[in-house]
Amino acid sequence: MCFTYQNGELFAEGVDLKEIAKQVGTPFYCYSSDKLTRNFEAYQRALAPFNATVCYSVKANPNLGVVSTLARLGSGADVVSAGEMFVALKAGISADKIVFSGVGKTPYELEEAIKAQILQINAESAAEVETINRIALSLGVKANVALRVNPDVDALTHVKITTGKKENKFGVDWDEAHELYRAAAKMEGIRLAGIAVHIGSQLLDLEPFRLAFTKIAGMVRELEAEGIYLENIDLGGGMGINYNVELPPTCSAYADVVRETLGDLGKHIIVEPGRSIAGNAGVLVTEVIYTKKMGQKNFIIVDAGMNDLVRPAMYDAWHTVLPVTKEGVAPIIADIVGPICESGDVFAKDRIIEPVQQGRLLAIMCAGAYGAAMSSIYNFRPLVPEVMAHGREFAVVRKRTSYEEMLSGHAVAPWLQGNAL
Ligand SMILES: *Cc1c(COP(=O)(O)O)cnc(C)c1O
Repeated sequence: MCFTYQNGELFAEGVDLKEIAKQVGTPFYCYSSDKLTRNFEAYQRALAPFNATVCYSVKANPNLGVVSTLARLGSGADVVSAGEMFVALKAGISADKIVFSGVGKTPYELEEAIKAQILQINAESAAEVETINRIALSLGVKANVALRVNPDVDALTHVKITTGKKENKFGVDWDEAHELYRAAAKMEGIRLAGIAVHIGSQLLDLEPFRLAFTKIAGMVRELEAEGIYLENIDLGGGMGINYNVELPPTCSAYADVVRETLGDLGKHIIVEPGRSIAGNAGVLVTEVIYTKKMGQKNFIIVDAGMNDLVRPAMYDAWHTVLPVTKEGVAPIIADIVGPICESGDVFAKDRIIEPVQQGRLLAIMCAGAYGAAMSSIYNFRPLVPEVMAHGREFAVVRKRTSYEEMLSGHAVAPWLQGNAL
């Protein structure tokens, strides 16, 4: 198993989290190699009846140790910046398994992607298609391009992670997509490779997927009737996970929807899961610095902050918090808060938890996706170590940044040098 108690101690696979804390200090992220593997393989197994490529969405967790673990299993990559493409290639993912998404790719980023001859660039506007064409022509090559269309369906998820409605900034407007395909088909620098859609994140219901995929199937048929033939159908990511009491769909139920809506088209299917691969494969371990009581309210102040894990502050996200050492004491109700000078720096409000004392460790669960990936050095706090557990071993897959590293690149302007008046 991946994160389980053994004699009252929380383990990552066969490693005691307390042991890791002793060696690397707190806070730290810990990932389970086995859980990443199982999550990835669930997609591969479910999609085995199709000609399909699972392109892990690197933005969920771009750690080289994580991406390399998935690369070994045959994963492709969905990237949203040239930086993520760099990581994917470093991890050993071949260019022909990389798709590049994003609403604002710069000419530099597009040039990098075109030179690398990746599987496809998912273009999101007419202006982007023209830019790709121009760059490809100047390089004397054809770029593999898909249009990311906006199907105008409601993903029924948090507003900040809904992407497939007309009013969102993402994708080519549904009513204009057809015309843009026709125009792109005539461009010398473009090879039309596919169609792409991504309607949001943390979806717990398959119906929005079904609606979107059905619309995509219709569009693919219409385009083929006009002689525009597409090889790839990229379905995006978005499958939810269980943070608290959610019941996310299984990969096989998702694959059923793919078969029912797109199965008879016989296309190459691409999926881009991020959260559902990395989310429950990671925890953030933090130490209790102080506890205090103000009126009736208990506070547990920990050494991790919103700069390390921003999801609760940014999305009102729930994360289960567990004591690394279970003592079986009657629980209290407490707010678990970080040290950052922001009222929003709260991991859990009115949480029922054992009365953990100063020096004890807590594990913030399901922090593998959009955790370390979104962390910052706000309050000039170092980026925390990331550790990968694998059976009874573990390895640091990113070390804690030092203050010197954090200051590297800073400079004092020349007019401030020399003696002060
Ligand atoms: C963020 C994103 C994903 C991954 O979404 P998850 O909800 O983490 O699965 C996939 N595709 C695109 C285009 C994205 O922007």
